[in-house]
Amino acid sequence: MGERLGEHAVVIGGSIAGLVSARVLADYFDVVTILERDHIESRPAVHKSTPQGNHLHAIQVGGLQVLSALYPGFCAKLCAMGAVPLRLTKDFPVYRPDGVAYSLTGAVREPRDLGLELYSQSRGLLEHCLRECTLTLSNVRAQCDSPVERLIVSKTRVEGVCYKSGGEPHTIRAELVLDCGGRGSRAPRWLDEMGFTAPEETIIGVDFAYSSTRFHIPNHNGDLGPFSFVVGPPPEYTRGGALAQIENDLWLVSLGGRFRDYPPADEAGFMAFAQALPAPRLYEIIKDAERVEPISHFRFPTSVLRQYERLTSFPQGFLVLGDAISSFNPVYGQGMSSAALQACALGAILAERVNSPQGLDGIAAAFFPKAAEVVSTPWMLAANFDFAYPQTTGTRPPVPPEILRYLLALDALTAEDIETHKTLVEVFGLARPLSALWEEPLRSQVLARLNRTDNGA
Ligand SMILES: Cc1cc2nc3c(=O)[nH]c(=O)nc-3n(C[C@H](O)[C@H](O)[C@H](O)COP(=O)(O)OP(=O)(O)OC[C@H]3O[C@@H](n4cnc5c(N)ncnc54)[C@H](O)[C@@H]3O)c2cc1C
Repeated sequence: MGERLGEHAVVIGGSIAGLVSARVLADYFDVVTILERDHIESRPAVHKSTPQGNHLHAIQVGGLQVLSALYPGFCAKLCAMGAVPLRLTKDFPVYRPDGVAYSLTGAVREPRDLGLELYSQSRGLLEHCLRECTLTLSNVRAQCDSPVERLIVSKTRVEGVCYKSGGEPHTIRAELVLDCGGRGSRAPRWLDEMGFTAPEETIIGVDFAYSSTRFHIPNHNGDLGPFSFVVGPPPEYTRGGALAQIENDLWLVSLGGRFRDYPPADEAGFMAFAQALPAPRLYEIIKDAERVEPISHFRFPTSVLRQYERLTSFPQGFLVLGDAISSFNPVYGQGMSSAALQACALGAILAERVNSPQGLDGIAAAFFPKAAEVVSTPWMLAANFDFAYPQTTGTRPPVPPEILRYLLALDALTAEDIETHKTLVEVFGLARPLSALWEEPLRSQVLARLNRTDNGA
């Protein structure tokens, strides 16, 4: 093949995964068309199929690194649009029943600047910025109000899509169709209709719900940083909350609760829930603040992982990416970063194929194992936090007790050692692989600490 892998690629879904994937595909196809069923406004907004966009959406360090690499100047543009810069972890106080901490487990008690920057903004702003950056590429075009209804299939090959626009049916022929249709992706159904096997699903019942709204907080005594969490340790505490400064000098408050302890969507119930959080900080700030929009509520019953990498046969010319593969418990803020990292993995595979006679043949067998690798760390981390609650249902990823002991000792070490703290934050932020927690000299430090504990020191 030459510099290109094909004339046309189609991306189903123009949300986070679809936009980043289109950016990656644009390097290898003459034209990339994004088909999005919703109406998309040319300003930051939550569109119909992504109601989760009303709630707290933090992009992790790893996701931000991918976006910065794919879109030079991305962070500067995000800031220019109104995003608020934050330093990890000094700008992330965690208010707990036992006082303020700078790590979710409570091990770190003083603010530390780890040299890592993040940005706080609404999901609508992030997606809007991503869309603007993607659509500056001359070979990417996006059509909204264009639901894809079915795939065009010839034997075992996907050759394009049929979609509706303006009430009329249309078709596009493409060498590659990428389904970024989110958790409700039709790929399993389409596979079944084509005579292929749909992927197995791993489901974890987390029974979680968010209620969120925005406030104007004019007088906060100058002691309010741009981001605060309120949580309590599991399994006792099922509720939490976050307060994030976002664009337009507004504050987004998301309250979360598990196992039917859901935050209400009415004013009185919302405030009462905030008042009963594990620490008073958030309630004290919002009790006299002005709410500027209705309260949105979102239920998230289950995390879902679709094991595409286990399928032994798959159509040519077709891939699936983003929430369509794995939809994580949102409380850990992993989905957008996971989608960006999956797109990055796809880019690496396409780069290898561009000068190979293989072209796009067997691309699914190359991509799905890489996507599964990307997804495995956030899935494992989230599942282990979730299973700290006995009410969580489903399959717990097998983690041997000695690994758990190691991780507990490592977490305790973060209190004394900034480098360990940074490594842990980078792994949780999907910027480094899980294996970084076992690299030297960290490994020896953790084992020495475990020895000291075993010897009663
Ligand atoms: C309450 C909540 C809070 C969250 N908070 C965070 C967070 O803090 N940080 C984080 O990283 N992640 C968070 N997430 C996850 C995050 O929202 C997703 O991971 C992210 O949106 C990436 O998803 P996606 O692009 O794969 O799918 P989606 O965002 O769901 O988008 C799928 C798109 O495909 C379109 N589509 C679907 N089918 C078709 C079709 N047939 N034709 C055309 N278009 C179609 C839809 O209209 C939609 O626009 C949260 C999720 C929830 C539920």
